[in-house]
Amino acid sequence: MEKLFVATSNAHKLEEIKEILKLYGIERELVCPASFDDHDEPVEDGKSFEDNALIKARYWFNKYHLPTIADDSGLTIHFFNEFPGIYSARFMQNYSYFEKNSWILKGMKNESDREAKFHCVIAYINENTEECFEGILQGEIADSIKGEHGFGYDPIFFLPELNKTTSELSPEEKNRLSHRSLALRKWAEYVKAE
Ligand code: IMP
Repeated sequence: MEKLFVATSNAHKLEEIKEILKLYGIERELVCPASFDDHDEPVEDGKSFEDNALIKARYWFNKYHLPTIADDSGLTIHFFNEFPGIYSARFMQNYSYFEKNSWILKGMKNESDREAKFHCVIAYINENTEECFEGILQGEIADSIKGEHGFGYDPIFFLPELNKTTSELSPEEKNRLSHRSLALRKWAEYVKAE
């Protein structure tokens, strides 16, 4: 089976990507830095999700020469001028997500503008191509922490039409509608046509 290098050391992302690729009928042997016991990390000094996704995909493609996808993703909050955005992983780095989410909720207490988005850019590189695919999930910042599933900001990312946070969705439900799923659907269509 053809190998696909998934350029992430985030176990949650890897699990979601694995399940989403199954959903779209992509059959590949997935390998990642951990498969090579490789703990290197490229410096993510880009100015956008796309820049950082490309930095990661190029770094790992140049190292292992395997068709590679890299996910760069994050949360933007309108009230905070689209922060944390590309800093979603690095913001309050030494704190837990419970503490980060609590900080956001406290800063937005009684605030009516709760618009937020989850972004994902998948960068894809093989010998012939370098392409990016974007997925955006529109939502709101919840008024409290809710849910047991997912990771990161899921417990405060509220979907009004479902009346649930993405953390209250089952993994299968989240994988059908998430920003990651939307970006990977575009990628899957691209590789099926390749
Ligand atoms: P990256 O590894 O630099 O792309 O950082 C992504 C960060 O964005 C994660 O560590 C989370 O904080 C956040 N994030 C991205 N996708 C999700 C998601 O699906 N749910 C919750 N948080 C997410």
